[in-house]
Amino acid sequence: MANLKEEIMTRRTFAIISHPDAGKTTITEQMLLLGGVVRSAGTVKGRQGNFAKSDWMAIEQKRGISVTSSVLQFDFDGKRINILDTPGHEDFSEDTYRTLMAVDSVIMVVDSAKGIEPQTKKLFEIVKERHIPIFTFFNKLDRDGRPPMDLVDELETTLGINAYPMNWPIGSGQILAGLFDLYHHQVEVYRPANESERFLPLNAEGTDLAQANALQQTPAWQESQEEVELLQDAGNAFNEEAVLKGELTPVFFGSALAGFGLETFLRTYLKFAPAPSSKQTVDHQIVEPTNPEFSGFVFKIQANMNPNHRDRIAFVRIVSGEFERGMDVTLQRTGKKLRLSNVTQFMADSRENVENAVPGDIIGVYDTGNFQIGDTIYAGKPAITFEELPTFTPELFMHVRAKNVLKQKSFHKGVTQLVQEGTIQMYTAWDSGDYILGAVGQLQFEVFQFRMENEYNSEVVLEPMGPKIARWISSDQLDPRMASSRNLLVRDRADQPVFLFENMFAERWFADKYPDVTLEAKL
Ligand code: GDP
Repeated sequence: MANLKEEIMTRRTFAIISHPDAGKTTITEQMLLLGGVVRSAGTVKGRQGNFAKSDWMAIEQKRGISVTSSVLQFDFDGKRINILDTPGHEDFSEDTYRTLMAVDSVIMVVDSAKGIEPQTKKLFEIVKERHIPIFTFFNKLDRDGRPPMDLVDELETTLGINAYPMNWPIGSGQILAGLFDLYHHQVEVYRPANESERFLPLNAEGTDLAQANALQQTPAWQESQEEVELLQDAGNAFNEEAVLKGELTPVFFGSALAGFGLETFLRTYLKFAPAPSSKQTVDHQIVEPTNPEFSGFVFKIQANMNPNHRDRIAFVRIVSGEFERGMDVTLQRTGKKLRLSNVTQFMADSRENVENAVPGDIIGVYDTGNFQIGDTIYAGKPAITFEELPTFTPELFMHVRAKNVLKQKSFHKGVTQLVQEGTIQMYTAWDSGDYILGAVGQLQFEVFQFRMENEYNSEVVLEPMGPKIARWISSDQLDPRMASSRNLLVRDRADQPVFLFENMFAERWFADKYPDVTLEAKL
């Protein structure tokens, strides 16, 4: 590759997080339109589109998602963009969380009529923990929404992050007239009479139009103008460093469906979104993207649910160096040498094979069972071991056992391997030793059950235990008599004791009764 450093600097790798229905798909489609990848909306979720034709995973297919929509790559404004999918709804799983370990920044989409919703909050917590820069887009401005001041206030208080409005709506729904684009010092007009009136310059103070316009007679104008003045006097200051540390979120408003404000958002976002970052190893070495030796880590493994195709795809985020098809790498965990020849890359409008990829890019390596979640691969001489991916606190639990008691061997083998792979989490009841599965989304149980049957020939019986709050307790503070029917005591894979509380009240009751005991959640 001509110049690795230059290539890397064009990459922007991000995920869009949102609560279902906030408009993530619509925004993704609009971005692909802007990138010239699709010609009409409706192709991302649709069946005929370029991104949905896939022969992968019966379960995922049924739900209209596919391996190709896991990563979308396109070019826009001189940048090569990789969008990583974070499935919502019932497809939500630990993979969704782990995907956030492979991005350099995040776009948070919020429905401006609904405000911050539970799934957004959960995903945000992970983003915050990692200090990933986060950009907020309040969507559906063409509908009557909540007052923008309320939305920004809620964002700051419920998520504990400072917000900086980059633009400010002039009305919403029926009276939506435009956006004060504070960053570009202009007003973006909603449905202008002609193209030349789409952008109107602001005066020097940035609080009014530079020249009189009919816009100033629209019903929402005055209120919006007053709010802009208020923001200028009393709002947060813009600070790029704080944005890059994930302490300040630039906030944008718009309507994905109406295609309003989205292009401005994307362009502004790309100005501030960071290029691929370095990554730390277990021995605290920093691997820079420009390091000439290839390295990467596996953040997701997608199993093929079709029993005729046992293969899987391991999604690798490239951290350093250049990937070339057919190159030899070492799988750190086993020391095994592997040749990366059967690799899917995610190029704009097809699953076309491309020969090279650079840091920030994702490659999909066909795998016959070598990889586990979190694995490091590298090409150079010095061994590289990236830090492990975090474990997430599961919220759903099921008792699991083999349907046929005579088939314990394949049952144990299957459970062990699927747990190692990161498909699902496993716990054992403290006293009985019964197996308990833990997951963050229902899909994980379905995938587990399906794969146990198809890959290990082991039918399993799953009995729901309902939602639980899992809290870790250190062994020296534990007295097994603390357990009760409202807080079950179990062991995790590392033999650490964990209480599964029935609900918040049970947890509070426990905290009152044992004030000296510290309970911990994972991420
Ligand atoms: P996702 O679940 O977050 O991917 O949400 P979708 O993109 O599928 O959008 C959910 C629904 O909201 C769909 O019916 C969209 O047409 C609609 N929608 C998305 N963006 C907007 C918007 O800006 N304005 C309006 N009025 N509807 C929108």
